[in-house]
Amino acid sequence: MTSGRFSPRAALRRLVVAGGMVLSVGMHRASPQPRRPSLPFGIPASDVPDQRLTLPLDHAERLARARLSLDGLSLGDAFGQQFFRLAPVTLIDARAFPEPPWDWTDDTEMALAITEVLTACGCIERDVLAWRFARRWAAAPDRGYGRGAHHLLQEIYVGGDWREVAAGLFRGEGSLGNGGAMRVAPLGAYFADDPDRIVVEARASAEVTHAHPEGQAGAIAVALGAAHAWRHRAAPNAGKGAALLRFVLERTPAGPTAAGIARAAELPPDATPATAASLLGVGEDVTSMDTVPFSLWCAARHLDDFEEALWTTVSGLGDRDTTCAIVGGIVALAAETTVPARWRAARAPLSVG
Ligand SMILES: [Mg+2]
Repeated sequence: MTSGRFSPRAALRRLVVAGGMVLSVGMHRASPQPRRPSLPFGIPASDVPDQRLTLPLDHAERLARARLSLDGLSLGDAFGQQFFRLAPVTLIDARAFPEPPWDWTDDTEMALAITEVLTACGCIERDVLAWRFARRWAAAPDRGYGRGAHHLLQEIYVGGDWREVAAGLFRGEGSLGNGGAMRVAPLGAYFADDPDRIVVEARASAEVTHAHPEGQAGAIAVALGAAHAWRHRAAPNAGKGAALLRFVLERTPAGPTAAGIARAAELPPDATPATAASLLGVGEDVTSMDTVPFSLWCAARHLDDFEEALWTTVSGLGDRDTTCAIVGGIVALAAETTVPARWRAARAPLSVG
């Protein structure tokens, strides 16, 4: 990656610009006050990454595709969330377009934070990201965060060190949940030219909240899937999905998540979504290994059709806002005009930059 060095003053200006994006989409709720001293937009002075503030020369192009992915991710998140209502199977079987507006959830909130950090820093600065996560949680804590996430983000917000808090979750094992995977597709888009860098940056983005290696493996896998979708968006669709799964498996760390993706890759072409869901899991345990394989299978199966990909994904039920967020963040990258305008209009207003 080619990069140029910028001055600290310019760096701060970028952070301020990124903060402006926060204000444009933030929620407005009363929340506990942070104890940290902060720069404008709430970034602690100690977190300004003046040692690593280099941005690639093609930063704007990288951000454009990251935001394309973020758009698809938030659409999937908001779409899937609509099917927690009564009788989702009937609605899905009828392909009943949910009544707008579709509110997004924590998946989108955290993906926005990742995109903001990439905008400001050109890489994942974990301290800055942790603070962004916590600030977004404090501004809108009712976006569907899990209990562990509530605890962790509140601790960070009042001054806790994410390293200690994340490592202490789940009796000291750290979280292996799907939260690292649900928010990471824009990062894969940003670093789409460099798969080895994706592994490093995706792991960094996950470990702020997910200390367990499996929670990080899911993030790596999804980011790689997003990168492959972008890199091959102009290629014929035949065989592209299978190639995506192979590409993901080449660099996803060994473990239950990778094993699940390998099972997904071995499913026959005529496997039904119901079969895939039963064999791979659909996020009912809210873990990486229970969520990422089915999501990647759905994305790989319908890379050329955003709507079909999302209807297929939501038919699995399970953790449907998150499976759909993962798929939306990948498939939005796979073709030039894959996201239907009707869907974008149905989502609650959201600025993705
Ligand atoms: Mg959610």
